[in-house]
Amino acid sequence: MEIPKTYDPKQAEEHHYARWEQNGYFAPEINRDEQAPVFSIVIPPPNVTGSLHMGHALQHTMMDVLTRYKRMCGFRTLWLPGMDHAGISTQLMVTRELKKEGTSRHDIGREKFVERVWKWKHESGGQITTQMRREGASVDWSREKFTMDQDLSRVVREVFVRLYEEGLIYRGNRIVNWCPNDLTVLSDLEVEKPSQAGKLYYLQYPVKNSDRRVTVATTRPETMLGDTAVAVNPKDERYQGLIGATLLLPLTGREIPVIADEFVDPEFGTGAVKVTPAHDPNDYEMGLRHGLPQVVVIDQRANMTEAAGDEFAGLDRYQAREKVVEKFEELGLLDRVVDYEFSISKCERCKTVIEPLISTQWFCRMEKLRDEALDLMARENKPRFVPEVPYEKVYTNWLENLRDWTISRQLWWGHQIPAWYTAGGELIVARSYEEAVAKAGTKELTQDPDVLDTWFSSALWPFSTLGWPEDTDDLRTFYPTSVLVTARDIIFLWVSRMVMMGLHFTRKRPFDDVFVTGTILDKEGQRMSKTKMNGVDPLEVFDKYGVDATRLTLASVGSTDIRWNEKQVESYRNFANKIWNASRFCLLNSEGAMVDPSVLKVTGADLALHDRWILSQLNRTTRDVRNALADYQFHEAVQTLYHFFWDDFCDWYIELSKQDVTSDTVSDRRTQARTQLLSVLEQALRLLHPFMPYITEELWQRLPGNQEERMHSAYRGAAPTIMLSAFPETAFQLIDEQAEWEMQLVIDLVSRVRNIRSEMNIKPGERITVMVGAPDEKLRKVLNASVDQISRLTRAANVTVEPQLSAPRASARAVLAGGAEVAIPLEGLIDFDQERQRLSREKEKLQTEAAKLETQLANHQFVERAPAERVTELRNRIAEIAQRTAQLQQTLGNLQ
Ligand SMILES: [Zn+2]
Repeated sequence: MEIPKTYDPKQAEEHHYARWEQNGYFAPEINRDEQAPVFSIVIPPPNVTGSLHMGHALQHTMMDVLTRYKRMCGFRTLWLPGMDHAGISTQLMVTRELKKEGTSRHDIGREKFVERVWKWKHESGGQITTQMRREGASVDWSREKFTMDQDLSRVVREVFVRLYEEGLIYRGNRIVNWCPNDLTVLSDLEVEKPSQAGKLYYLQYPVKNSDRRVTVATTRPETMLGDTAVAVNPKDERYQGLIGATLLLPLTGREIPVIADEFVDPEFGTGAVKVTPAHDPNDYEMGLRHGLPQVVVIDQRANMTEAAGDEFAGLDRYQAREKVVEKFEELGLLDRVVDYEFSISKCERCKTVIEPLISTQWFCRMEKLRDEALDLMARENKPRFVPEVPYEKVYTNWLENLRDWTISRQLWWGHQIPAWYTAGGELIVARSYEEAVAKAGTKELTQDPDVLDTWFSSALWPFSTLGWPEDTDDLRTFYPTSVLVTARDIIFLWVSRMVMMGLHFTRKRPFDDVFVTGTILDKEGQRMSKTKMNGVDPLEVFDKYGVDATRLTLASVGSTDIRWNEKQVESYRNFANKIWNASRFCLLNSEGAMVDPSVLKVTGADLALHDRWILSQLNRTTRDVRNALADYQFHEAVQTLYHFFWDDFCDWYIELSKQDVTSDTVSDRRTQARTQLLSVLEQALRLLHPFMPYITEELWQRLPGNQEERMHSAYRGAAPTIMLSAFPETAFQLIDEQAEWEMQLVIDLVSRVRNIRSEMNIKPGERITVMVGAPDEKLRKVLNASVDQISRLTRAANVTVEPQLSAPRASARAVLAGGAEVAIPLEGLIDFDQERQRLSREKEKLQTEAAKLETQLANHQFVERAPAERVTELRNRIAEIAQRTAQLQQTLGNLQ
């Protein structure tokens, strides 16, 4: 059997993915079983502007593991890929290109601009789809979707019109978060609120016909130009006589009232607050309560308007701030300025300080949609969040406190709002221009220039991609989807909105489960981000260690946050090499034998102990991996497989079978051993496949035997591939605790003897005598039955098992389970003097090290200042040294 000495991941990655894709293995149609259960996932659509980062790679790995697993279990499987048009990001990308060319979107106009974005999308967008192929993602490319596709746009309009007709979408004047740089409204979720050092200005407003002044505190003096009242708490004794008084608003010539409102916090500033309804969300509400006028003094570019007065009009808000403060000082009305730390609202994308502005926007009323989602959670506990704590609570709490959603954006790239205005200003909401014309009875219509928030179309993703509102086969078959795999930071932006929209329009939840992945942090524990330049490029990791090793690393993240550690990937690369080498050994010794799954179905006393044992471990592993995947315990699944393949299969089973498998003489026994070994390997590869698709396919294709027989019956007729083979079933009757117990005794004994060999520096070529004293008869029986194996694995000339140990004094000893003991006589094997010296030297060295560490720990300053991890590390090392010293002491005793 030809097989290269070393594994070349790149070659396998290119070759197999292309073949899988071309053969249609990813499409659900490959499944011929009409009764097949269904498993479906829609991908969280990455931005069309994006390229693959660790967050994607992490989620994609988990989705692919689940999809491949379910496909091998015979499910009709769909993992649907696609991309999001990413309103602001994409618009910015093309705006930047235009700037480089010396033009702008306003120069070329809306129509040309949108054309330009499409051109950009076709030429440079969607890099991520190529990169996903490299990941091994088994998505059905024939169903790929883009949120701006015609069919998906149609769904967006349909949903908009229906919500409007139900009174759940309305157009209104509201105070909104406005980004003066991007010139668009932002939802609360697109605003970040970092804490920042600033100033609190105390301004005095004279009371009309009095010498009194009222002092108000503000962080934004420029907004005083738009004040329409000063408010105090009605219970505040200090201001009792002033309520209803008139104030002379400086710099404006306007007069404003002092009003009483219970929302005023008497503890803040002076207890009297200025009220600017047009430029502050709380003042806006207060203004509505008291019928105050709204004076707009700041415009959309954050410049002062005419209403701010001749002196200020045209200044930007910060220049205006300086000037207002100067003027107050000149007038002797600036009470004082103090340092003040407060949280300031910034645009999440461009970091410009938000300007709250009153503007006409479209809103979606959430109460009804929200109640439907909360009801589903209360009634059926769906969707099921994994991990349930804390995400279920995070989700319901957020829903309970939900406010209306601002869905319009002042952008050009996106779904333009399906609303038209007649010349007379009448509003027509319709699915198309034609429908609007029919409704309005005129062609003289102007479409609303705004587009919808990108998250509006994402909220429809699970059903818009499957053909809703038509009753399509796909919708009937794959909706609701099985699970959503996502990061926790979009539970609000996305997950909750999908549940609300899905329930409202399909009367069904969009997915059963939500698996929330952990986050990969950088080495220092910081979030990876483009701006911090601390991200690790998954493609580089693929190049260096192979996709399979990277996927194992990512799968083992599970739902916890981890710091990125390349050593981990390296160790999984070593695991891939181990798999390759072990398989190579099996293949090089496979003449006359082939994979025969039927040999894995029977056990019995006529099988050798190690064969019964490996069958037991194989089925135990199968059971544990299945259970882990059913609960989305990816980390446990990886650990189980790693332990089985490396420890049980490679380190013990291959070693225990070696004698028979490598025999030069053709015999039934050799053939049987080879068949057994190949068949165990083949099943192990199938268990590993969802996690390590490439190396398992590469090796599986090389294994001799009838491949078709191993394909899942749902895929009969497809060209053989491990992708469509049957995921192993657990044969519970083969889990054999007796065999496991017996084998564990042998493994323990061999391990102890090997330890002694290395501890005592016994040369590998030296044949030793192994003496076991075991008072327990059952134990003696087990060890006696395996004397040959034990001799071979410990390179012993002689192994004796007696009830009582009668070893010479100069023997190395170790305690075994069940009150047994093993001894290896050392006379003639080693030079006692030399060994004693060597071991004494080691002991002294360790004691010196321990003393040094003790001194360090006795130093209080060190302990207080050093990181806690470092202190723990030192303590552990001291414990380790103590243990090793005791061991050395015992060994030295044996050499007396
Ligand atoms: Zn911005």
